[in-house]
Amino acid sequence: MKIIPKRIARIIILAGLGWLPAAAAPAQEAAKPAPPLSIHFEELTAPDFVKAVDASQSTCVIPVGILEKHGPHLPLGTDLFECRETSLRAAKKEYTIVFPAYYFGQIFEAKHQPGTIAYSSDLILDLLQETCDELARNGLKKIILVNGHGGSEQLLQYFCQIQLARKKDYAVYLFQPAPDPAREKQIDKMRRTTLDGHAGEMETSQILAIRPELVHLDRADEQSGEDQNRLADLKHAYTGIWWYARYPNHYQGYGRAGRKELGELALDLEADLLAEMIRSVKNDSTTLALQKRFFEETEKPLATPQKK
Ligand SMILES: [Zn+2]
Repeated sequence: MKIIPKRIARIIILAGLGWLPAAAAPAQEAAKPAPPLSIHFEELTAPDFVKAVDASQSTCVIPVGILEKHGPHLPLGTDLFECRETSLRAAKKEYTIVFPAYYFGQIFEAKHQPGTIAYSSDLILDLLQETCDELARNGLKKIILVNGHGGSEQLLQYFCQIQLARKKDYAVYLFQPAPDPAREKQIDKMRRTTLDGHAGEMETSQILAIRPELVHLDRADEQSGEDQNRLADLKHAYTGIWWYARYPNHYQGYGRAGRKELGELALDLEADLLAEMIRSVKNDSTTLALQKRFFEETEKPLATPQKK
């Protein structure tokens, strides 16, 4: 039996435990260029996260989805697939950090359908607020919300409004692309249907581009996506039951018309607009400066100048 000197034996044991001292580590290969930082929040190491906050100029994107029925033929997570894909495509053009899967929005109107997860309004607002607070505490001071779900539109605008309720050192921005006639013309040229909304031609096309194996085109006609117009006699009024009154199958349009090419085009065009927004948010110092001044004034409203 060979006798191993004590020091070498210790190194062997430590190496086995993964504690090999630096001096005894194998010689490093010639320095390779650092791999690019991931755009996925959850894939970053803690030290790389610090670099990513810097590289993103303190921006991040939360794609906000939902779990709800999408006609008889699309997956429950459709909206998150779509807004995450847009966000990831945009982040590849203009570096930012994309927050992990976030399924918490407003969806009471689909509670009668299987697979809907409808959290209470207080929980939804608290969760989003605490998520933003935590991102800001980690240096991400410019938070971009990208909505994937029609039922969360008002919620997210309201969330932006209530950011002014208390002093904070970060800003929340909601992605709201301005009308782009050239873009709409390009899309309209490819469209086959005129009634198109939830789980219709466009959404089906997008999922065909992102996760084609999850689309069941052959089932798209098993339920009606037509407008049932059951509140036609109600004038000049908004009521929460309006969607159920018109589209009780949680389906609007004709999914069978979906095509991958249309989905690709729409996702690319949307990602271009989002990349442009991310760039402008990076360059924006006015929002935070105005917020700061606003919060100072809210503490002493009587001292707020009342003249020009
Ligand atoms: Zn949808």
